[in-house]
Amino acid sequence: MRMRDFINDLSLKEGDRYRGDCPQCRGKNTFTATNTLGDIQYNCFKLGCTIRGIYVTDMTAAEIYQRMKEQQTQRAYTNIKKEKETMEIPEYVVTPKASHTKHQRYVRRWGIAIGDTMYDVKDERVVFPIKHDGRIIDAVGRAVGKKQHPKWYRYTGEADYYTIGIGKTLVIVEDVVSAIVAAQEIPYVTSMAILGTSMNPKHFEKIGEYDKVIIALDPDAIGKTVEYRREIELWTGRKTTAMNLIDDIKYREYEDMEKLKELVNEISNSN
Ligand SMILES: [Zn+2]
Repeated sequence: MRMRDFINDLSLKEGDRYRGDCPQCRGKNTFTATNTLGDIQYNCFKLGCTIRGIYVTDMTAAEIYQRMKEQQTQRAYTNIKKEKETMEIPEYVVTPKASHTKHQRYVRRWGIAIGDTMYDVKDERVVFPIKHDGRIIDAVGRAVGKKQHPKWYRYTGEADYYTIGIGKTLVIVEDVVSAIVAAQEIPYVTSMAILGTSMNPKHFEKIGEYDKVIIALDPDAIGKTVEYRREIELWTGRKTTAMNLIDDIKYREYEDMEKLKELVNEISNSN
């Protein structure tokens, strides 16, 4: 059976996720397919199975918009607080070893603690597990080989954000690596990477758990920074400070790090 027919038969609607037996290797419950705005991303977790890709359906922009509207309305009516499922870690995502040289090179380059990562030996990705309330519900994998697509891969797509660190001040950064760097370099902060292009009520719910918020996105994201700040203050009532950076936090520009430390200290002292 052709993959295209198999996917078509699933009739996945925008936002739908399917999990079942793999049409290729017959692996039990190892195949997933997710429809995100008409793009169906599919993947098999079984070691040795190469099934993976994106199938673009021919939904028009109007159809996508209509479906999103319908879903929003549905959500507004049901308003059920659903627990996220615990992620089943595939057997090829392992604790990193010194012999995983691509993994080693990547974590060394960014100065990331190895304990915050895993390694996908099948697809050559440095994997950042995403925990909510102590359970892994998703993971982000950064390609460290030469040929993989996409560069950043989401394992379940369940998580809305990645957070790391302890502290009642929250620093919102551009990506997972910046989040880890901020949490490592600045004592007593929690940092958050928003996994997507916009914030939703899940983000605001989480942000509301912190006393103060600092937004430290990359210097090209001024529009986004202004928008986030406005939304956060509106939704959570938390005092939110926006920072102008020279570069992403992960590049550890001296001035940026000093400014961030100062800001965090000011904020904690004023309490
Ligand atoms: Zn398979």
